[in-house]
Amino acid sequence: MPLVYDFSHKHRRPPMEYKDLLGGKGANLAEMTSVLRLPVPPGFTISTDACRLYMHGGWPKALDKEIAGARARLEKAMGKKLGDPRNPLLVSVRSGAKFSMPGMMDTVLNLGLNDKSVEGLAAQTANDRFAYDSYRRFVAMYGRIVLEVPGEEFDERFDAAKAAAGVTSDAQIPVELLKKLVEDYKAIVKKHTGKAFPQDPTAQLLGAVEAVFKSWNGPRAFAYRDRERIPHDLGTAVNVQAMVFGNRDDNSGTGVGFTRDPASGENKPYGDYLINAQGEDVVAGIRNTEDLDALKQQFPKLHKELMGIFARLEKHYRDMCDTEFTIEQGKLWMLQTRVGKRTGRAALRMAVEMTKESAIKLSHTEAVQRITEDQLSQVLHPQFASSGQTVLAKGLAASPGAAVGRVYFTADDAAAAAERGESVILVRSETSPEDVHGMLAAEGILTARGGLVSHAAVVARGWGKPAVVGAEQVRISGNQFNVGDVTVREGDWLSLDGTAGVVVTGQVALVSGKPPKEFEVILGWADTIRKGHLKVRANADNGPDATNAREMGAEGIGLCRTEHMFLGEDRLPVVRKMILASTPEEEEAALEGLLSVQREDFLEILTAMDGLPVTIRLLDPPLHEFLPSTHEMAVKEATTGLTDAEKELFEAAKLWEEANPMLGTRGVRLGVVKPGLYAMQVRALMEAAEQLASTGGHPIVEIMIPLTVTREELGLARSWVEGAVASVKAKAAKKVKGAKLDVLIGTMIETPRAALVADQIAEEAQFFSFGTNDLTQMTFGFSRDDIEGRIMGPYLEQGLLKRNPFEVVDYDGVGALVRMGVAKGHETNPNLKTGVCGEHGGDPESIDTFYAAGVDYVSCSPFRVPVARLAAAQAVLAHPEVGKAKKAPGKRVAAKKMAKKTAKRAPAKKTAKRAPAKKAPAKRAPAKKTAKRAPAKKAPAKRAPAKKTAKRAPARKTARRGR
Ligand code: ADP
Ligand code: MG
Ligand code: MG
Repeated sequence: MPLVYDFSHKHRRPPMEYKDLLGGKGANLAEMTSVLRLPVPPGFTISTDACRLYMHGGWPKALDKEIAGARARLEKAMGKKLGDPRNPLLVSVRSGAKFSMPGMMDTVLNLGLNDKSVEGLAAQTANDRFAYDSYRRFVAMYGRIVLEVPGEEFDERFDAAKAAAGVTSDAQIPVELLKKLVEDYKAIVKKHTGKAFPQDPTAQLLGAVEAVFKSWNGPRAFAYRDRERIPHDLGTAVNVQAMVFGNRDDNSGTGVGFTRDPASGENKPYGDYLINAQGEDVVAGIRNTEDLDALKQQFPKLHKELMGIFARLEKHYRDMCDTEFTIEQGKLWMLQTRVGKRTGRAALRMAVEMTKESAIKLSHTEAVQRITEDQLSQVLHPQFASSGQTVLAKGLAASPGAAVGRVYFTADDAAAAAERGESVILVRSETSPEDVHGMLAAEGILTARGGLVSHAAVVARGWGKPAVVGAEQVRISGNQFNVGDVTVREGDWLSLDGTAGVVVTGQVALVSGKPPKEFEVILGWADTIRKGHLKVRANADNGPDATNAREMGAEGIGLCRTEHMFLGEDRLPVVRKMILASTPEEEEAALEGLLSVQREDFLEILTAMDGLPVTIRLLDPPLHEFLPSTHEMAVKEATTGLTDAEKELFEAAKLWEEANPMLGTRGVRLGVVKPGLYAMQVRALMEAAEQLASTGGHPIVEIMIPLTVTREELGLARSWVEGAVASVKAKAAKKVKGAKLDVLIGTMIETPRAALVADQIAEEAQFFSFGTNDLTQMTFGFSRDDIEGRIMGPYLEQGLLKRNPFEVVDYDGVGALVRMGVAKGHETNPNLKTGVCGEHGGDPESIDTFYAAGVDYVSCSPFRVPVARLAAAQAVLAHPEVGKAKKAPGKRVAAKKMAKKTAKRAPAKKTAKRAPAKKAPAKRAPAKKTAKRAPAKKAPAKRAPAKKTAKRAPARKTARRGR
């Protein structure tokens, strides 16, 4: 295999497909040269193979010879030689990896100049100034980029020379001074490197190539790859290209052009150019650039030629392209092209319009595949109108969108300020259910502690409120916070960007997030693709959220958390009464009180989702979350003292306190110790459903038991649910004849054990919903609330974890449990419905994992629903084998296994596609074990009274933990 390829090399496939080998820039230069036959200055590409060889064993032996050969061919083609004292060839040395990558070595222009060839250039162009200006630039560029001399030294000398000559513009510097500058620059190089500036063009060239190789592992490039999850072993290519000069004269220039407007997506070329300029001058902002209309005026023929090239590029790449071009003495040269970056708005518009254009003929499928998650969410959330603000603090990007407001430090203050009409940013160390009114009132939320599934993050995402969490540099003390030596006081303005996880002082201007009309078009196509394969539901806890979710396109509710219904000011005291109840009668009375309010909540939700399934999760969190903090109570007791009622609460709080609440009395366990609770919830729910049905609605209810780990547990919980359902139905049947109610009873799978014995649990369940937040917590043994603040950073930096598993579901571990749970569940219950309701349900890469595992739906925050609809369609397209297996009845379990085999994890990049499986293993575990184990339905009678249980709970003194 050669290590060097001319741009005109005949590859077996189109060169643009060789980005792995040639890098993006090299592959497209070759494509433009040999396929499109556009005017590209000739050159060659040193492959990524060469770079990899260099990284492993130093400079490859064969490389010198190959570079010499390619250089000789280039010299022949140009009729000039590198370093020729009469007629020198000059080249640029340009890095170019597979993925466009800031942090790599900058391009060196004008390579080949030395003390002799500069004379040749002067003679050849009859322009001394041009020649010495080029040489001066080259010595500084090469010195800075290749020899690592501090660039300021050149700049200082340059400014001093300008001042001495009494000129203000670079172009006025006289030739003699330029010559002097070259000498000074060379002296600077000698001082820093101990060696003279290399005069030999071969040494210059090889030095530059090696510097590009080395820059691959420079700290900036390394950090960038980490962040973008680009593998570190790809290596970069190096392009060596004959120079063309946009800075020759006023008949020359250089520019950048997009074949369409990358901001709006309008089908109108867009560009900037500068007359008499070279390289980066256009983007450096030194002079004011002109647009393509000006080009048309000044160079009508060249403009026409450029427009023709744009059209050919678009037709060829079937997409919007971005280009770099240079004009040398009236001749147009193309120096670069690639598929251009674009805003979300532009991406949507282009994708839709390109389906209607005969030159491109994009299919609906291709259009859907082209839109990224970022592009879609960009158009939904407000954003900072411009970038470049000084970042005060960084945290986790917990909930997208930008917000601006005045800072308040307590929920009450935030709510009061919002009441006065102020925009508010709520800043807390962390939030708890007691802060929700302040969170609701705030435009945005900032916390110093907590991870992506902390209370603040989950609640904010649920409401589509921008949030930055776990900003550890933020030190709150009373009514102010500090980051380093910056102090932000109550009432000060603060801006935050929850998409990027950054916080900025003051008021940053925002742009709105109203989606363009193409948004619905693309999502409509996505819905068609995923129809019958993967549904998208929402996590919503109340009527307005449910309504909003439906508007966003949710096909039901996958998770309604009933605990939020217990936290209202009117309800918390009743919940506390229930916890404190000392007789069954008192408990009963408190439950009745809750029943009526819950019924209203349920009715609202069911009405909003009429005709679509609604999964109601029975109460899940540890009961002590409804009690005051023992810490605060202890402080109060010691200072102002406690009232009798408070004393009672304090006692209860101590009684219910647990060392490890996340592993304690929560989920179905709560139901076991307070059995009346679940029955009450189900009655409230069923009464609401009856009410809706009696007015002609079609409620579809799915009752979900949280945190089940055994079949027996689920059997027991199921018996209460069925009992309550039956009692409500019996009553209702007398009133409304023929009212039909669909009720499914199922469970969450959120512990490893539940997944491991999913076949047993499925005997009692009509559906599974994988709660992947807890499943991740329990599988890794990572506390959801603590781990992201301290541990996740170092783990990601050191490569101990590729991704934050609370953000992207862990394919190998948690993903395996989901695959196992789905497959085993279907063994004993082929009609089992399966879904996912963790935060991962809104993450595209996780959605792909879940679809391949065979789940029927994902459920996510209402504001994530559009992204999930798109990602679901993309997952369906990426896994044709899953769709086929689902259509063939009976093959279902096999399909899951096949998907499992198939999904060999490509590293990193989201774009990685998994190859479809060739053969289904088709071995299907028989469902024989079912009969052996009788479901445990007899349990209820034996229950110990709840009261006693509660008393036995140890009163630990540890500080309250968890959410
Ligand atoms: P980047 O990846 O940062 O864009 P490039 O390699 O594209 O770096 O080059 C930087 C600048 O130098 C661009 O404006 C490009 O047009 C210009 N340039 C590169 N090679 C040549 C060349 N052979 N002749 C003239 N200009 C060049
Ligand atoms: Mg470029
Ligand atoms: Mg859970």
